[in-house]
Amino acid sequence: MMPRADTLWIVDQAKSLGFDLCGVVRAEKFPELQRMPEWLARGYAGEMKYLADPRRADPQNAMPGIRSAIVGLLNYNTARPLSINSALPGEDSTRRGWISRYAWGDDYHDVLRERLDALVESLRERFTGPFDARAYVDTGPVQERVLAKYAGLGWLGKNTLLLNQMLGSFFFLGAILTTLDLEPTLGANELPPPDLCGSCRRCLDACPTQAFVEPYVMDARKCISYLTIELRGAIPEGLREPMGNHVFGCDICQDVCPWNRRAPIATIPQFQPRVFPQTEENLTSTSLPPQDESLYLPGLEWLLGLSEAEFRELFRGSPVKRAKWRGLIRNACIAIGNSGLRPGTADHTRISDKLERLAASGDQVLAESARWALSHIQ
Ligand code: SF4
Ligand code: SF4
Repeated sequence: MMPRADTLWIVDQAKSLGFDLCGVVRAEKFPELQRMPEWLARGYAGEMKYLADPRRADPQNAMPGIRSAIVGLLNYNTARPLSINSALPGEDSTRRGWISRYAWGDDYHDVLRERLDALVESLRERFTGPFDARAYVDTGPVQERVLAKYAGLGWLGKNTLLLNQMLGSFFFLGAILTTLDLEPTLGANELPPPDLCGSCRRCLDACPTQAFVEPYVMDARKCISYLTIELRGAIPEGLREPMGNHVFGCDICQDVCPWNRRAPIATIPQFQPRVFPQTEENLTSTSLPPQDESLYLPGLEWLLGLSEAEFRELFRGSPVKRAKWRGLIRNACIAIGNSGLRPGTADHTRISDKLERLAASGDQVLAESARWALSHIQ
């Protein structure tokens, strides 16, 4: 095994590349990974078939000759209100959609990947013998959260996310898998950071779709993040009203977490909310503010009116593109249906016209979502 000085050097190097925290862990089958088959067998992964990749259950299978993983943590928190306190002044915020905090800026895959690749380059300069090292952000056959816990970066909370006592949970994780035999950040007799959830159950109680089967176990099929991003078909009827105004992801189980109350603010410009230019339609609208639309609480009417080509153009390099145009419009329909909009206003007429057009489209999911929305704003 390589000397501890190498591990300390890697951690320092990661921080100099902009990571907030970094840890090194041995590639082992940690206890959380052993519970995966049962979680999958219960169907909790829904349509996310990639989660059943057998390599994810044991880091030893993730890469030939793997010995260690280096985990980098990058804060994405921005100085905007939490979803549970969100409202734009002087506006009807029920007519605005919630996009998850992590998706307001540029695609984090690119931002993290660039830093991880730079770290791999540094490894190549320091360790001259032959070795393999591959950087992954979400795309790897590993569970970054579990590796991060055993690298000493935090504990896995009842909301199933990695929590850090100083940073909360608004951060991204990326990993480098390597054949280098690095000394782990935690010493042989050191345990990962303790679970500080205690008797708290705010996240479990606040989840609008009751996605937690029990503390630490989520049925992803009920999670708004899954429904709005991963699910390609129709949103199950019983989960539509609890979705509220969510159009891409959900932050509620993080927003209510006491460990995020003092979460530090990231200054990385790429994570600030994207601002889009006004469209002709918005400029002539009386219901939308005379300011540019941004991904922080975007107007639902604006989203609903986006064409597929506009979506592709506006969301290039944004995490939101994962939902695809069809998914985002479907979600906007559901959010409009939940908005409390009532007949008798110009807004209602305009939005109903847009929904009618979608209801007449050849796409069954969009048509049915639009009809559902129309029936809920009568
Ligand atoms: S992200 Fe939202 S829907 Fe999903 S578990 Fe958390 S609170 Fe529930
Ligand atoms: S809200 Fe409470 S129970 Fe949930 S993750 Fe945070 S500290 Fe743990």
